[in-house]
Amino acid sequence: MADCNETLRELEPFIDGEISDEAREHIHGHLGACVDCQQAFEFHLELREAVRRKASNDELPASLVAKLEVCLRDDFDGDGVVGNGGSDESASVR
Ligand SMILES: [Zn+2]
Repeated sequence: MADCNETLRELEPFIDGEISDEAREHIHGHLGACVDCQQAFEFHLELREAVRRKASNDELPASLVAKLEVCLRDDFDGDGVVGNGGSDESASVR
């Protein structure tokens, strides 16, 4: 079974289907057993969705934008605020 480092490294190609069947089996097996990597995987999927929607100018849920901004430490929606704004207590905690 793949370990966490390998799984995280292969997440993008895994989502893109650009890895071998064998590697995919390993990643899939690890995701089924590791909550941390599962969450990272789901985050990558959300990130994909966000980028896709932004490219087509769809509205993004504010909660998703805030989450992405905190994770990426970037002002994703261009409102001058990283995260939800106001109290940024949660921005320093992951
Ligand atoms: Zn893991």
